[in-house]
Amino acid sequence: MIHEECGLFGIYADGNAAVSDDLAYTCYTGLCALQHRGQESAGIALNSGGVITSRRDLGLVSDVFTQENLKKLGTDGGGEIAVGHVRYATTGNKRRHNAQPLVVKHIKGSLALGHNGNLTNAAALRRELELRGSIFHSSSDTEVIIHTIVRERLSAGSIEKAVEAAFSKLQGAFSLVLMSRRKLIACRDPNGFRPLCIGAIGKSIVFASESCALSAAGAEFVRDVAPGEIVVAGGNGISGIRTHCGKPSSLCVFEYVYFARPDSVIDGVSVHDARVRAGKILAKECPAEADIVIGVPDSGLDAALGYSLASGIPYDAGMIKSKYVGRTFIASSQELRESAVRIKLNPIKSVVNGKRVVLVDDSIVRGTTSSRIIELLRRAGAKEVHMRLSCPAFRHPCYFGTDIDTRENLIAHNHGLYEIRDIIGADSLGFLSIDALSDISYGCTSGLCKACFSGDYPVDVSGVQLKTEFEQDIDTD
Ligand code: SF4
Repeated sequence: MIHEECGLFGIYADGNAAVSDDLAYTCYTGLCALQHRGQESAGIALNSGGVITSRRDLGLVSDVFTQENLKKLGTDGGGEIAVGHVRYATTGNKRRHNAQPLVVKHIKGSLALGHNGNLTNAAALRRELELRGSIFHSSSDTEVIIHTIVRERLSAGSIEKAVEAAFSKLQGAFSLVLMSRRKLIACRDPNGFRPLCIGAIGKSIVFASESCALSAAGAEFVRDVAPGEIVVAGGNGISGIRTHCGKPSSLCVFEYVYFARPDSVIDGVSVHDARVRAGKILAKECPAEADIVIGVPDSGLDAALGYSLASGIPYDAGMIKSKYVGRTFIASSQELRESAVRIKLNPIKSVVNGKRVVLVDDSIVRGTTSSRIIELLRRAGAKEVHMRLSCPAFRHPCYFGTDIDTRENLIAHNHGLYEIRDIIGADSLGFLSIDALSDISYGCTSGLCKACFSGDYPVDVSGVQLKTEFEQDIDTD
């Protein structure tokens, strides 16, 4: 199971009473639509009359917020600007103080900030800041970002100029939504690793990690924030700073394969369409003789449909996913994770019994989940199981905000195709090729990061430590 590490939402009401009266609730609806990007904590900071109130805690959005406590934000749940955040944290780092948005008071005002991504120079920047007297309350690299921006604000003429200056110090992946007393700002690092888009409810401006959250909040999609762009929503409408735009960009291609919701459109490409295309190409690259195609819910379903369409092998719903299993429980230990596969996924016996099954999933990390699923299918009577993956094999870690692991824990780093096939107990195994990743994201307005498959990192990662290897107590978001 791979986890995305955060979802961002921000809204600037711009005097629209219908929006500003229900600002906390609108933010809540946006966060609910982004829940798949992080289930460990949720938070909203709301600005009413220049005063920022916030609530953030461990748990799902629906655990953290109630009708009553939403009303305690701002003025009876209303205000002018809001920032929301959902976060995923690895086991051991589920601390309340790492929940976002972070809210600080500094010499020139207040700031609330949510972050998606992972700074590759967080440890060095934190050390530098600490040597100059900064004190940290959390173990998150987001606090490093907020300190960096606040320091730049001392000499910059505005908050957006401070963000622009901070870009020169921050390295790695950072999509941000931040709020000052009078402005809402959204920006994407120059590589554009993590998605971020702009929507509108009338004249009110909305920022969200994915377009599905705009729809949930009743906003119309306007456009994506460009890699390197700083977009400012304020009293004079929308303005932007593009001094960091135009460098080679590298959107995480795994957003299309797994992370994002299929009803989102990212950098010009429908996630659903990208997954169906992946399935179609997979059927050509790795054909199988079989009776049915099934997908592992949820992110394997669209690719399974594509595989079926291209191969002519009938598609069926062979596995059911229980939607009510708590994610926190699942993440708590390896042993529990394994038994959780049984609780979470169940084959439909009448569909798979006596059949040669093509099983389409999005990826294999350690191989444990795949072998459990194949075992379940065989117990349900599947005659053969041909495993197909709608992305290439993971051979390298991710440094940009996902928990794709150290090399040693990636099954494809240590084993060849036939060895993996035998370990997971499949009759045959096939991965999408690295070349096909550009085809599945056809029409994407950004370049692509494919580093966890190819080892070709778009930025220098030499000397960068994975968070699990950090000697210092710094997590990433
Ligand atoms: S290394 Fe892989 S998971 Fe990480 S940003 Fe690049 S494509 Fe995405």
